[in-house]
Order: sequence, then C-alpha cells, then structure tokens
Amino acid sequence: MKKVLRRERSGYILGLILCLIGLILLAVALWKLWPHVSVSQNALTELWSYLWKEQLELALGIELRLIYLTVLGILMFFSGAVMVALSQKWFTLSGEAILLTCPYCKNQWKTSRAKGWAECPHCRQFIQPQVAKRS
Ligand SMILES: [Zn+2]
Repeated sequence: MKKVLRRERSGYILGLILCLIGLILLAVALWKLWPHVSVSQNALTELWSYLWKEQLELALGIELRLIYLTVLGILMFFSGAVMVALSQKWFTLSGEAILLTCPYCKNQWKTSRAKGWAECPHCRQFIQPQVAKRS
C-alpha cells in the first residue's frame, strides 16, 4: 500500500510542478507581451504577430520565440493537470483487488480495500483478515 501511495504522491507533485512551470512560462510570456498589447490599436493581430516575432534570450545564448514559450506553457499546464487527475485515479484504483486470508478457515477472498475487521464470507466469523496479496 505504501508503495502505491508514494507513486501516487510523486505523480501528484510532478503534476503540480508541471502546472506551476506552465503558469510561470505563461506569466513570462504575458509580461513580455503586455506593453505591446496595451498600446496597440489592433490588439489581437498585434499580439499574434508579436508572438511569432519576439525572441526571448535565454541563458547560454539560446533564443526562444515567444510563441514556443506560450505553447510550451500551455502544454505543461495541461499535462500537469492531467497528471494530477490521473494520480488521483490511480490512488482509488490501487485499493482494488486485495486478497484477504481468513485466519480460521484459511480461505481467501478479494475485497475492494483493506479492512481492520471483516466478516469472513466462508465461515461467517468476524475476523481480523490477513492480507495475502496486493496487486
Ligand atoms: Zn473464515
């Protein structure tokens, strides 16, 4: 259970980080665009042409067009959001198919989640089931 939980959490955190980076990239793009858009008469066409024109100088002499930055930001934000959604789904799915063993009759049965106490479906005893296998 711990292993599944950790994987789930790392996916969630990774998704959040991706969302955050995406938002930062979009904020940088917006910050670069804003002075041009606010003074422009024809804001949308100006914005579009400026997105393709403007080169952003990164470290190591790498230049990045603003349109790539914007697209990258949007992509990262959405993939991060999907990852967060999926990691939560994995978590609920991970609770499925736990094999429990009855300490009295040694019969096994599958359950949706681990329980501290359960009624054995074979001998009808109220028991503390042992977890045989998690998948
Ligand atoms: Zn039993």
